[in-house]
Amino acid sequence: MQTNFSKTQLSDPNIADANDILRSCVHCGFCNATCPTYDLVSDELDGPRGRIYLIKDMLEQDRLASKTDVHHIDRCLSCLSCMTTCPSGVNYKHLLDHGRRHIEETYSRKFIDQTFRTFLGHVLPNSKLFKYLKFTAIMARPFARILPERLRKPILLVSNRRQKGKVVTPMIYKADGARKYRVILLTGCVQDILEPSINQATIRILNRHGCEVLVHPEEECCGSVNQNLGQQNRAISLIKANVARWSEIDKAARLDGIIVNASGCGSILKDYGFLLRNDQQISKEAGKGSKLACDITEFFKRIGLNETLVPGNLRVAYQSPCSMQHGQKVDRQPIGLLSACGFKVVEPKDRHLCCGSAGTYNILQSEIAEKLKERKIEALSELSPDIVASGNIGCIMQLSQAGGREMQHPIVHTVELLDWATGGPKPKLLDGVTLRVS
Ligand code: SF4
Ligand code: SF4
Repeated sequence: MQTNFSKTQLSDPNIADANDILRSCVHCGFCNATCPTYDLVSDELDGPRGRIYLIKDMLEQDRLASKTDVHHIDRCLSCLSCMTTCPSGVNYKHLLDHGRRHIEETYSRKFIDQTFRTFLGHVLPNSKLFKYLKFTAIMARPFARILPERLRKPILLVSNRRQKGKVVTPMIYKADGARKYRVILLTGCVQDILEPSINQATIRILNRHGCEVLVHPEEECCGSVNQNLGQQNRAISLIKANVARWSEIDKAARLDGIIVNASGCGSILKDYGFLLRNDQQISKEAGKGSKLACDITEFFKRIGLNETLVPGNLRVAYQSPCSMQHGQKVDRQPIGLLSACGFKVVEPKDRHLCCGSAGTYNILQSEIAEKLKERKIEALSELSPDIVASGNIGCIMQLSQAGGREMQHPIVHTVELLDWATGGPKPKLLDGVTLRVS
């Protein structure tokens, strides 16, 4: 694609990067074929190619974002299905981040919209505040029906799965037997409050495989919520704090990995090196942090899993989160591990399409998110599984959310099944569920 940035514009390293990305696009439009919003809306501007043109125009003309830019760019899920499809390797993600930042800096949203986005950007990345939000959502749930859509959605999402159990205590969890590895576990701001069983299963399985696990008392959010909202300054300050802390720990005692079990967080962690590339003070450490970051299933593919088969050849429908399959290119690892443990893994049609969760998307763009959710539930249900497994808390919440079509099968995190199959307890959610033995 031809671009026309001036020399002055190109002296800004961020514009220079955007220019490189734009020039790699040959505007073939192949990406539109796998874009969920283009598929639903059939508008060129609701596909990746159209959004690329909108961002190009905003940056090239150095103009304020318009209502049209914001409308179509806000409707992008950041699912990155387009990046998997693109034959020219266009880094749509980095261009989109730039476009969202530009919108945040130059567009005045309606007061109520801006306030709501600011609220989300403060509460979701803060587990202490999020705990109160969950409590409030549970209290407000009986009245959800009469509340406006904007409030009803988050209340239903947050209050639906009321798992009992304590959040994971920050401490060092010692390896069972001799220590072979030392890792940090990122517990996730929202995940640990909503579904503590996921982190508990992760720590158990890591300890059983000779890993010492550190859960840091001052863990910060990974920055993805703010990054997706275009609130880059806030995202960068969280990212820098994480990088500095991890670097210190790694220097004191070499780390074998920074383990992530929420793929939305994993996707941004692997991008820390890029996001801090122009910060001379910390860019090297950020790159190292990105290299150490790995999804729990990637880690077990590397170190090996002591599988002890689960009884019954259970049929597991695997829902591959976008941030995993497109964002991190971690796709076959979870399936391979589940299969090795004796689960019969099946996959839904259109597996590349997003379930509509996408960070705060299901709250801010609920109409499209709901349609995508219904499609995903239908595709998963067609498989008649005993269990549905996913590697991202966002997808788990989205698919089990009350209101609209609901998933009839229990949905758990992949690591809970792997933990069960290697000597851990059966996931609580499967208690009382009749599992078909096929
Ligand atoms: S597939 Fe790639 S090269 Fe083709 S229009 Fe989309 S982003 Fe551009
Ligand atoms: S990130 Fe997803 S929704 Fe956005 S343009 Fe790409 S495929 Fe479409």
